[in-house]
Amino acid sequence: MLHPLITEPSNLDIFTETQHKIIENLNDRQREAVLSTTGSNLIIAGAGSGKTAVLTRRVAYLISQGITPGQILCLTFTNKAAAEMNKRVRSLLDSVQINLPYIAPWQQDYLQNPLLCTFHSLGVRILREFGDKIDLKKEFSILDSDDQKKIVRQILKELNISEKNLQPSLAIYFISQCKQASLVSSESNKISKDFLPIFHQIYAKYESQLKKSQIVDFDDLILLPYIILSQNQDIRQILYDRWHHLMVDEFQDTNPAQFELIRLLMPLEGLRLEKEKSLFVVGDDAQSIYGFRGSKIEIILNFQDEYPGTKEVVLNQNYRSVQPILDLAEKVIAHNPNQKKKDLFTNNREVVDVHYYVARNDRDEAEFILRKLQELYINEQKADIKKVKSSSELIFEADENSYITKDYTKSKDFVKKKDPISSMFDIYLESDDNFGISRTGLYDPYSWQVPEIKWKEIKKLDEVVILYRTHSQSRSIEEVLLKHNVPYKLVSGTRFLDRKEIKDIIAMLKFLANGSDRVSMGRFLPLIMDGVGPKTLGKMIAYLDDFDYPLAPKYAQMLMDLIEKMQRCWTTNSTLIELTKELLTITGYMKYLKSEYPVKDEFEARVENIGEIYSLMFPFDEDKEMPLTEKLNQFLAAVMLMSSLEMDEADDVPKISLMSLHQSKGLEYETVFLVGVEDGLLPHQNSFFEVGGMEEEVRLAYVGVTRAKKHLYLTSAESRIQFGQIKANPISRIFRPFLDVQVKRTR
Ligand code: ATP
Ligand code: MG
Repeated sequence: MLHPLITEPSNLDIFTETQHKIIENLNDRQREAVLSTTGSNLIIAGAGSGKTAVLTRRVAYLISQGITPGQILCLTFTNKAAAEMNKRVRSLLDSVQINLPYIAPWQQDYLQNPLLCTFHSLGVRILREFGDKIDLKKEFSILDSDDQKKIVRQILKELNISEKNLQPSLAIYFISQCKQASLVSSESNKISKDFLPIFHQIYAKYESQLKKSQIVDFDDLILLPYIILSQNQDIRQILYDRWHHLMVDEFQDTNPAQFELIRLLMPLEGLRLEKEKSLFVVGDDAQSIYGFRGSKIEIILNFQDEYPGTKEVVLNQNYRSVQPILDLAEKVIAHNPNQKKKDLFTNNREVVDVHYYVARNDRDEAEFILRKLQELYINEQKADIKKVKSSSELIFEADENSYITKDYTKSKDFVKKKDPISSMFDIYLESDDNFGISRTGLYDPYSWQVPEIKWKEIKKLDEVVILYRTHSQSRSIEEVLLKHNVPYKLVSGTRFLDRKEIKDIIAMLKFLANGSDRVSMGRFLPLIMDGVGPKTLGKMIAYLDDFDYPLAPKYAQMLMDLIEKMQRCWTTNSTLIELTKELLTITGYMKYLKSEYPVKDEFEARVENIGEIYSLMFPFDEDKEMPLTEKLNQFLAAVMLMSSLEMDEADDVPKISLMSLHQSKGLEYETVFLVGVEDGLLPHQNSFFEVGGMEEEVRLAYVGVTRAKKHLYLTSAESRIQFGQIKANPISRIFRPFLDVQVKRTR
């Protein structure tokens, strides 16, 4: 008999050398999951236990079994996760000498490459291919949130409703809730009895407006494919034959519409009938954090009811974090009694304490981060240590109005006058605590000066993240990082598209691709129609829909000239970059931009941003085979689904990341600063009044803690400026019980 800890060798003999490599280093449960290649499978496991790792290995394993790569569809929620998954699968396959041909990600190739993408980009593909079933043209455009608001405002105006009585965002929320529950406007009364009839009316108008303009919003990218599939058996069959293996990462965050789509793509009967089909979903119920976007934790918890006979594998070894971090994570999640128990453990014997710092205010909180970064990473910059030490000063009080500093390197004393304003903080500054820090030579509390460090050279900055509950918390941190030239990237959730000039240009391109898109036209027309008033502009747009509409011939001619000029760009150019450049000149947009930003620097900054569009277009242009119209369609879809995260990665200077807790899921960093650990922030004040709100805040805190591999710092501030007011929040109730016991206070 073999010792239970020794894996039976005969089990492994059946694998080829390639497969050995693919599954090597996996623990028994992980391996079991990778090898489950039929039926429905649920991998439910705690953070950092290798769920995503298992998913990527399984893709490689299926391919090593001879499965056509194109038969594999793997879905995730963020572009970053999808890109990461593509990279990992490719390098895994490369390492075992399985080489997939390189095919640009936007190309529709359903044979040679597995499709690893987000739910939304799957939606775009399905709509491009089968949108005609619901009268959606191939060139449909995707609406962004600003334009969405504009449409709703217009509808409210038509219905004579003042925005004071009904905020557009509330109507948008209602529409989104309906769509995420797979309800079109004619079914919207099923959502809840609580909404006034007017909401249903707004939804109906909104729906028809989008249809008329051949526009879809983000929720439509899931809802419309669902409608097409549920109504058309033939299309269901095509997709069923196309994708034999469907996998989903972060499954805990699926919403009902997404789940319906999964069920249509991989129906239970299909799994029962055919051995070569599989559904494989992985997730962690403790990390379900998108309730506000309609995700339902019940979907993962009740998965087995929908897919009876599901094989469940639980992974419980954590490979990411040191034990103290895991201990804290477990305590945090224990606030929620209904969470599935995971009993995570790690073999990592390293002990690194989790630290907690109470800052006086948000600025001090930010300065703390800087000090800690120096302590952590100063050794990376050995040559400069002397210099840093040499700037150390000790501070002694001389009298009420002045103090003396000693600089040991120069053996000299300096008498400095106190600044009357900063001396308001003297009690803090001159406490023993701060002398302690100052003696280390790293921190001079009096002047708030941080010794100079060449931050750009510190490679490990890539391994640092600052996490917060609300985006507004990034401001004071950014100020401090900027002041000290620390490279950082803000993952702002806002899209690259939110810059004005980018929006303008995309609107022009959208209109060029989809002549029905009135929303885009409404955006750029006023900019380039010099001297035409808003009323006439409205008429011009109406005229396009109906040439009998009364419009002075002069304006009709202007409009027709413009459209003709724009259309001509199709024939005179062969690349997207040329096309766009010409478009900007002939429409007079560049002239407009110059007049809008007369200051040279400002204008140049805008032009630089436009250059970023060209960089994005470049890979599309490289494909010499693709027709220009198709290039434009593909480019627009890619840009609309893109977040600023992808934009910022262009240069390779290592940077600290700043992001919200929501954006951090699936990611890992050596060092994590979780800031604003306060009641009102984490848990967020809105959660106090929502059913299930506190549970979701606890899960968010759990997600934050479990991003850290080695160093975790929690911070709170005794006072901070929040929503324009000075607030003194109590320490977070989620963490309060463990501070001092589980977590060490730090300075
Ligand atoms: P999350 O819940 O945060 O999404 P996860 O369960 O998806 O986490 P992964 O990101 O797949 O976890 O893995 C966490 C870390 O552990 C990664 O750095 C991964 O490379 C590593 N890892 C996973 N499995 C193993 C293993 N068997 N041996 C060594 N390292 C592993
Ligand atoms: Mg993961």
